[in-house]
Amino acid sequence: MSENKEFSFETRLLHNRHKFDSATGAVSVPIQHASTFHQADPEQFGKYDYARSANPTREALEDIIAELEEGTRGFAFASGMAAISTAFLLLSAGDHVIVTEDVYGGTFRMVTSVLTRFGIEHTFVDMTDLDSVKAAVRPNTKAIYMETPSNPLLKVTDIRAVCSIAKEIGAITYVDNTFLTPALQKPLNLGADIVLHSATKFLSGHSDVVAGLAVVKDPELADRLYFLQNSFGAVLGVQDAWLVMRGLKTLHVRMEHSMKAAVKVAEFLAAHPHVKAVYYPGLPDHPGYSLQRDQASGAGAVLSFELENESALNSFVSNVKLPVFAVSLGAVESILSYPAKMSHASMPAAEREKRGITGGLLRLSAGLENPDDIIRDFTAALEKSKVETRV
Ligand SMILES: *Cc1c(COP(=O)(O)O)cnc(C)c1O
Repeated sequence: MSENKEFSFETRLLHNRHKFDSATGAVSVPIQHASTFHQADPEQFGKYDYARSANPTREALEDIIAELEEGTRGFAFASGMAAISTAFLLLSAGDHVIVTEDVYGGTFRMVTSVLTRFGIEHTFVDMTDLDSVKAAVRPNTKAIYMETPSNPLLKVTDIRAVCSIAKEIGAITYVDNTFLTPALQKPLNLGADIVLHSATKFLSGHSDVVAGLAVVKDPELADRLYFLQNSFGAVLGVQDAWLVMRGLKTLHVRMEHSMKAAVKVAEFLAAHPHVKAVYYPGLPDHPGYSLQRDQASGAGAVLSFELENESALNSFVSNVKLPVFAVSLGAVESILSYPAKMSHASMPAAEREKRGITGGLLRLSAGLENPDDIIRDFTAALEKSKVETRV
């Protein structure tokens, strides 16, 4: 899988082993709709038999993401949550998992409202504090689940350090790499066992597909995850697999532009008198700044910022013209979202407040616009919001 590792990441996005179809030379992976495959005789199964178990289009995407994350095997699912939920099925009743406290809202819901019904226990910790990770370990701790930078407060977890705590106790480690993608961070190389993605976000990048991916390095773990993918059956459809592959070709250029834009907008917001706080690990005063530089090649394109209160936020949101105001992130267009009422709506209010997800907090995912236009738009909206909410 790593036969062309001598080329850089952006080159490998285009020149991988699926750059053309071996049957026709087509330079785009063919979409194979067949749900079943002809068998030559009763004794002999071909490589493909039934498309839930394997399909060449989905398999091409699974190969590509495995190569990009520098793992041995990839798995494509119907959504990020399908990937995450299937990976959680590696756990059994009586097991305990330690989870990043400001984890994606859907993951929080899965852990607290679904896994608990199957006897899988959990503890949420501030994963940036290694002592509290250690303190949360129980005799039945079988997994540690990280999301870094976290959502929406962009806290940075030391992946290497948490993985070494996990190794000592024989627990597996998950890393949700949605925010950074392998363009910026490769958790398997930092010691993680399973990388998870909502491919709905940066990997596909155009707000036009819902998809999830998982990658592992260890072949035995790969077999177990394949068994669960096939058993649970939440596989990605072929049209959607193709859309993710098309999006992946431009991942590097999109990430590069969006990240530069995020830095520029973060610096602008940090200097603005109407902004209470900015959370972006690419700013030198962010507590995770040097760790982020050490374990990843960039801080990504998502940042959060806090306005005075909910009414300042409402006024700002109604006055901005450019970003789409929506759930989601990682798209060609900048997306502004309101974590308390969107991505983290499934988290009880008390839990949100405890994590700093306040009524004045907004999250921005920088897109491909000219960042100066975003800054001009934000300047005007912040000014209007100050006037409208003056008492
Ligand atoms: C969106 C998201 C998910 C869930 O993915 P879906 O494709 O919406 O199911 C998981 N983790 C993170 C960090 C996300 O942003």
